Amino acid sequence: MGVRMAPAADAAILTQVALMVDVNGANGVSGMSGVSGTSAAGAEPEQVVVALGSNLGSDLGDARSHLAWAIQSLRGLQPTLGLQLVAVSPLYRSAPWQTEGPDFLNAVVALEGPADALAPLALLDALQALELSRGRQRPYRYAPRTLDLDIILFGHRVIDHARLQVPHPRALERAFVLQPLLDILPDLHWPGLGGAWQQCLRRVQSPLPVRVEGADWPSRQPDRYTPKIASKNF
Ligand code: ADP
Ligand code: MG
Repeated sequence: MGVRMAPAADAAILTQVALMVDVNGANGVSGMSGVSGTSAAGAEPEQVVVALGSNLGSDLGDARSHLAWAIQSLRGLQPTLGLQLVAVSPLYRSAPWQTEGPDFLNAVVALEGPADALAPLALLDALQALELSRGRQRPYRYAPRTLDLDIILFGHRVIDHARLQVPHPRALERAFVLQPLLDILPDLHWPGLGGAWQQCLRRVQSPLPVRVEGADWPSRQPDRYTPKIASKNF
């Protein structure tokens, strides 16, 4: 059985995330080498891509509820992190890769906020708090997980920090990241790769994900949404 949370517990974890972010300050762990990366100046909107995955539970319904809960929780981060959820990919299922266990469910989301107010480490802290609140354990590398939240891209920033590498170093090997990313941000430019990232999907060794239909999945690509990551030339 997956770990289920009562609404009150959900509220508690969001409060915990808010307190933690407050402790870190508006810029998270500021002044640490490599964390701010190379970002656009001023209050220009910046977009962040987060990948979601789950493969623990007695059936895929548990994994699905973990991911749906995570998306709802990401919406709740807007007041503290300044990041608004602007797009949610379709849901995908894939066989485990480099690990064992039940099939995975995966999706990616895009978040957006003013570049000068965003803090990558504060987002990582918040994502890890959300993982923990769903009972995430790390007995060994690539172990089955209730909830995995990875930062794939943070605008055009390149970050090399002990806790955080962006772009995510293994994202381009993962069809379960590339396919949903292609669905919501087909024109995005990958730092250092431009549009060539799309070719990676043809060469990956990880199993191709299969789209999971479902009226209750909160896929969302609003009309007003234009991918800012695509707007820079490399
Ligand atoms: P994985 O997602 O690779 O299976 P984990 O979720 O257990 O592994 O994360 C392991 C560590 O990876 C985390 O403690 C985190 O500090 C680090 N990490 C480095 N870069 C990133 C990133 N872009 N997104 C999320 N975690 C990252
Ligand atoms: Mg992870």
